Parts: sequence; structure tokens; C-alpha cells
Amino acid sequence: MKPGITLPRHGRIPSSNLGWSIIKMENCIFCKIIKEEIPAEKIYEDDSTLAFLDISPVNKGHALVIPKEHHETITEIPEELLKNTISTVQKIAKAVENISDGINIMQNNKEIAGQVVPHVHFHIIPRLKDDGFKLNWRHTEYQKNEIKEFSKKIKSFL
Ligand code: 5GP
Ligand code: ZN
Repeated sequence: MKPGITLPRHGRIPSSNLGWSIIKMENCIFCKIIKEEIPAEKIYEDDSTLAFLDISPVNKGHALVIPKEHHETITEIPEELLKNTISTVQKIAKAVENISDGINIMQNNKEIAGQVVPHVHFHIIPRLKDDGFKLNWRHTEYQKNEIKEFSKKIKSFL
């Protein structure tokens, strides 16, 4: 915890974003794993990232990679830390490749997209021939010119 920051007492609303992020961090299950307040099967660790096995795997060996600093989503994490996190994702994927026939990397942002733990994380899911796991994509389609409109909208924010 940063020096000089006092956690708000029950019932008081923090006056800053920093106050809120400290409260979220204190309640975050992955931050608790980082601080070793709860156990996890760790497989790799460096200064800024941690990899451990998912407690409820899609397939055995399903790993999670997280930054050690608490950020909720991929758009909130600082770029340098994201780069380190992605490097660890590749390192773990290279290892998991040896125990699988293929790999899915999944990364969910916000509840609507299936994010349950609000600490940014990457799933490294080992896939096995005939494992029966289906991603269940659905496919929609663009009406005339719509693809150009979407392209224009997204580009306007880049
Ligand atoms: P999300 O749905 O947020 O993308 O994925 C969260 C993942 O974290 C889930 O796959 C879930 O099984 C895993 N998980 C949740 N709590 C724990 C825990 O306490 N320990 C471990 N190792 N994994 C957890
Ligand atoms: Zn956290």
C-alpha cells in the first residue's frame, strides 16, 4: 500500500480514484494470491507478473497470467506492464504447448464479456484432440456500408 493512504472507515466514501482502487485491491482474490494470503499453484513468477493454475480449469493445466499490480481491464493497464504480461503469456504458452495439441488464449474485460475476477488476466487453455470444449462463437453480418461505418467509428478513437 502507498504511504500516507488511509483506508476509509466503514460507511465513508473515498474522495479519490486512488481510494477506490485501494479498496478494490484489498478485496481482489488475485491480489490476495499475489500477497500469498490465499494459496495458489504458482508455475512462474517474475518482478511484475505471476502465472498460476486456474482452480476450475477448462482442461487440466489451464493457467492464468496476471500483472502483480492491480488493474481491472486490458485498457487500464499501463503499456509497459502489459508488454511484460504478454511476454509471460508467451512463456507459459510455450510450456503448455508440450502438454497439449493446441492452445486458446482468452482475456475477458468487464462482466458483460464474462470477466468474473476484476484483475486483468489471460487464460492459457491447453486444448486436446476431442476434448469436447466448444467456444460457441456466433456470427452476425454487416448490412450494406455498415462495415465502413464501424471502421470509421473505431478509427476515430485511435
Ligand atoms: P474470468 O471469468 O474472470 O475471465 O476468469 C476468472 C478465472 O479465475 C476463472 O476461470 C476461475 O476458475 C479462476 N479463479 C477464480 N478464483 C480463483 C482462485 O481463488 N484461485 C485460482 N487458482 N483460480 C481462481
Ligand atoms: Zn487485484
